[in-house]
Amino acid sequence: MSRNSYANYRRYIHNFDNNSILDYLGSNTIIKNNYERQATTLMDLIENDIEKNFGSRIAQSAVSAMKNAYVSVINGLVSAAFENNRFFLERTALLKVIYEMQTENNPYEMALEYMEWHRLVDKKFIIYGIQQFTGRIWHYTGKDYVPRGISIFLSGVPLCGNHSKAYTKYSRTVDEIENATGIVINESCSRCGKDATRFTIALPKAGAILAMLGFYTGHETTDLGKFYADYSRVLHPYGFYSYPEKYLINLWSLDFIRLVLALHKIIF
Ligand SMILES: [Zn+2]
Repeated sequence: MSRNSYANYRRYIHNFDNNSILDYLGSNTIIKNNYERQATTLMDLIENDIEKNFGSRIAQSAVSAMKNAYVSVINGLVSAAFENNRFFLERTALLKVIYEMQTENNPYEMALEYMEWHRLVDKKFIIYGIQQFTGRIWHYTGKDYVPRGISIFLSGVPLCGNHSKAYTKYSRTVDEIENATGIVINESCSRCGKDATRFTIALPKAGAILAMLGFYTGHETTDLGKFYADYSRVLHPYGFYSYPEKYLINLWSLDFIRLVLALHKIIF
């Protein structure tokens, strides 16, 4: 519905399409154009659309990240500003992936809501790339299957009754998965080799989330990957944080407008 509203912002960025934020930050190159007002109206527009499309508490954290980015910019905090842009990108992508999975009590969503995701990461229940996500599932279902509903658990880790005890909230039984998908699963526990009785979800890293976003929506997400990589460079141990405070709002506004224009057509 509001696609045209987004398109109205394109005119502000077309002169800046070829340069990444690193080109400006790295050489302290100043941008004179001030699009702060455009960035803040765009914040309102996408906040509204996020709330309309994803009415969950996770959506609120994406919106908060965006607002924190703006507060950071106003206070001249370079790395905090782009760190929050990165968080906004990650969280919004994850929201859309969760939405597309059409899974009741989605385990990724629950792991965020209960703030227990780090327990799974500590146990190395991690998906490093999209190939791992689809590969594990396609191993059971055959290729080209689009995992939705309960079958997403097949992307996780098979465990026996004993080793899955601590993760019942984030797992489903082999029986449940077989009943829902109509496939037969013979798998052994990844820890002890006994018969697996459950599959516990594994959490995708940021790169995997962006690729999963592409997988589920059919959109190219390479551009989003570039944004992500640039933000990570800003936050790198060798990173950038000394951009002139007064002009940070100009650079951030342009970047934010570019990010939202790349993102909105994929998530809405
Ligand atoms: Zn076991």
